[in-house]
Amino acid sequence: MRQPCETIFAAVGDVHGHHYEMVRLLEERESRIDSRIKFVLQVGDFEPHRYEADLESMAAPAKYRAVGDFPDFYSGEVAFPWPVYFIGGNHEPYGFLDTVTFSGQIAENCIYLGRAGHTELGGLKIVGLSGIFNGDKFSDAHPRVEDLLIRKKKDYTYFNKDDVDRAVEVGKADILMVHEWPSDIVAEADRGLFEQQRRSLRYDSIGNQYARILIELLSPRLVLCGHMHKKYRNQIRLRSGEVVDVCCLSSVHQGADSLAFFRIDEGGAISEISG
Ligand SMILES: [Zn+2]
Repeated sequence: MRQPCETIFAAVGDVHGHHYEMVRLLEERESRIDSRIKFVLQVGDFEPHRYEADLESMAAPAKYRAVGDFPDFYSGEVAFPWPVYFIGGNHEPYGFLDTVTFSGQIAENCIYLGRAGHTELGGLKIVGLSGIFNGDKFSDAHPRVEDLLIRKKKDYTYFNKDDVDRAVEVGKADILMVHEWPSDIVAEADRGLFEQQRRSLRYDSIGNQYARILIELLSPRLVLCGHMHKKYRNQIRLRSGEVVDVCCLSSVHQGADSLAFFRIDEGGAISEISG
């Protein structure tokens, strides 16, 4: 039974410019629960290209370069039905996103959390870290937007030490959003699910250690990840003994596995709604 004061929110995996499909999937799922979504958390590879020129600053093979649906949302022709908070992935128009300041709002009901950002929603503190890990670039500053023509596009897709430090400074969080999976989140018992999969060799080589350290330091109750285009759930135990729910989401083009719905009850507990 639904409680009167509970809050429902949704998490969404990689969108890759399919914003209409994201809305359609969310509305379809929302129609099956007796409640409205309060907000949506999106875990990167959102691809909010305003127009063709934004594709110039995205790292991606030519066949994946498409403007997608976002121009309609950017122009105000359509709006997301709920506030959508997103982080950056490794396929983003960083030439645009790195210029976003102030509230992070880039269209109606569409808010970028920044390279490392946080917000408070439904009484929860939510922290986001954009980008993926590259050990060779981790100590480097982000390349400047003015240098887009002379720098590799991929150089814009990595998070660095400053980003991680800023996320750590937020302190205790309720939800952590990352694009690339943290390391050591896959249970050995699930190793068979990861053989011959996209971007993975062995189940225990998946992910990056800095996202994992962030979990230890922020001790969120829930971690949301994208990037692998794979649905996966697990619970991990921190050194403190606390248990954290991990929710990895597939990509919107794969359908309903790209979504997760959660309920925040009156006491602030977060639980995933099945179905
Ligand atoms: Zn992706």
